Parts: sequence; C-alpha cells; structure tokens
Amino acid sequence: MRSKIVIPIFLMVVFSCCPEKSGKPEKSEKSVSDLTLKNYRPRSVYNIPKTSVEKAAYPVVDMHSHDYAANEQEIQDWVTTMKKRGIEKTVILSKETGAGFDSVVEKYAKFPREFELWCGIDYTGYDTDENWTENAIKELVRCYHKGARGIGELGDKGEGLVYSKPTPAYGLHIDNPDLEPVWAKCAELGMPVNIHVADPIWMYEPMDSTNDGLMNAYDWRIDLTKEGILDHGELIQTLENCVRRNPNTRFIACHFANCCYDLAILGRLFDKYPNLWADNSARYAETAPIPRYVKVFYEKYQDRIVYGTDMGMDDEMYAVTFRILESEDEHFYETEQFNYHWPLNGFGLPAEVLRKVYRGNAVQILNRN
Ligand SMILES: [Zn+2]
Repeated sequence: MRSKIVIPIFLMVVFSCCPEKSGKPEKSEKSVSDLTLKNYRPRSVYNIPKTSVEKAAYPVVDMHSHDYAANEQEIQDWVTTMKKRGIEKTVILSKETGAGFDSVVEKYAKFPREFELWCGIDYTGYDTDENWTENAIKELVRCYHKGARGIGELGDKGEGLVYSKPTPAYGLHIDNPDLEPVWAKCAELGMPVNIHVADPIWMYEPMDSTNDGLMNAYDWRIDLTKEGILDHGELIQTLENCVRRNPNTRFIACHFANCCYDLAILGRLFDKYPNLWADNSARYAETAPIPRYVKVFYEKYQDRIVYGTDMGMDDEMYAVTFRILESEDEHFYETEQFNYHWPLNGFGLPAEVLRKVYRGNAVQILNRN
C-alpha cells in the first residue's frame, strides 16, 4: 500500500533546512520551550562503563567505502588512519565506468594493497538500444582488466538503478531480464555485486509526529506518489528475484538490505539463497537501539554479514563502529556521527562473530572461484 506523504506545517518549519551537524546546546529555560528537534542534543546521565575501542579487535576489511579522498595527501592520511584503527583493506565502490573509472584507478595506484576498486555498470542506451547490454559487458570487461574486482555500489530506492555513471537508468530495476547477461559475466569473472535496494522504512512512511526516525527520514524521504516508483516491499522483491535467478553470482545487499526495521526479512533471504551476503555499513545507528535482537541476528547469520562504513574517512568514525559492535555499553549518543537523536547500545559480539564480520566473510567473497 502506498501512502501519501503529508508534511504538517510545524514540521516544515522545524525541518526546513538540512540538520546542522553542530547544533549548539540551548541552555536557558526560555529557549527550551522553543527547542526544535534538530537542536536537541541530550547527554547521557548514567554513570556506567564507557568503552573506548581505539582499534578493532581483529583485522578488518571495509567492504563499503567510496572515493572520498580528494588528492594523494588525503589518501596517505586515510592509509595512516586505517593502520591506526586496524583496517587492512578498504573496498572503494566507485560506481564509475569509462574515463571516470580510469581516473579512480590512477588515483589509488600507489596503494594496491590498501584499496580494492569496484566499478559501476554503463547503462547507456538502456531505454533506446535493445543491444545495450553488449556494450555494458564490453565496458565491464574493460574495467576488469583495468583492475575492477567487483561492481558497486548499484542503487535503486524505487525509481530505478540510478547510481552508476554516466547514465542513471530510471525505470530499470535489478531483476530486469536485460541485466541477466551482465550478472552471468560477473559470475564468470568472479566479480561480486554490491547493491543498495530501498532505504530505511522511515523514509517511506508519512512525515509526521509518529515517524520513529523522523530526524533523518525527512532529509532522505521518498516520494511514493511519483509515477512508477516501487515501494519498500516491491524493491526487496526485485532483490530476491535477481538473487534467485542468478545463483552463480555473489550479491552483497548493502545496509542490511535496508531491512533494519525487520531483519527477519533479510534472514529469510539468507536462508533461501547462499549467494547473498549483506554489509552493515551506515546502519550502526539504525541497529544500535535494539542490541539484544541484533546480536542474535549477527550470531545466527555470522557467515553472511560483512563490515562496511560508507561514512567518510574520519578517524573517530571507525572507533564508533567498533564500540557498537564490540562493547556492551548502553545508552550513549552519537548524534553528530549519525544524526539520529536516540541513544545507542553496543552489541558485545563474540570473538568468533567479530572475526568473520570484520574480515573472514570478506575474504571468502573476495577470493574468487
Ligand atoms: Zn555507499
């Protein structure tokens, strides 16, 4: 069922601009009566253990990052941070093809051990040329020979596969039969596919006072009234169709397939399809409110979840992800990192699970047949 998005006037005022990352605390009693959600920055009062995890407990492969570095100095600084935090390798999901991909290859050429590069799909002609996949495959093979070791991040929030450059493929979804030969080629070359389908459920729900993730959802809201757009359930179905029809291709649904609100949906897919994995990137704040349930999920699917960040190169960012995965800390805020106003909790994952999520599963996926 698609619901029409209604934005009450008071919310439009409160959320009329991007959330300020550095909202100043509003201290006086007078200002509290006018306090807006975007400026709410509570501090935990509990005197309970606070764990600082400076370095990951085990070596890490970051399976979800992007071409964040602007120049060689920034790459160098990034490598220093990675070393300090225990990140052995970072996968750059470039989304690029053609000259764009070549320039990414050139940029990271000095650091072949620290970075692995993945390319996009060239969708050019998808809506006009019935043989467009032949060219897409030719470009894919060219990128492979240039060093691409996987495809991603592909992305469809409902309007189609719009992430790859240079052509956003509006109306083309991941289960479109046109793409079958591309997936077959990926299987042949041992290239895994990182795919972003849907978005957290809050983005599809009405923007009103009942929306649980409103502080973030409003910025990333999805307009389900757009012609031809797929809703959350329909998008998950496209993922399932694609994974089912292409058992020899390895798919990584990023961000827990955007099913943090109901991880059982992802669990059912894991149970059915051995060629499906998920990354946990950019979904720390979305899972940390329900740590006991999430811990059980990690334990049950410890062979299927890989570590990812997708949140830039900031030194502190890595430590926050480790704290959530490793510690049993409760009720702490990371509003500046994540922009959600709710408190977070650590999962306290067991060593065996951490080893697999941090690195073991990634090595399985990256060691091609
Ligand atoms: Zn990403």
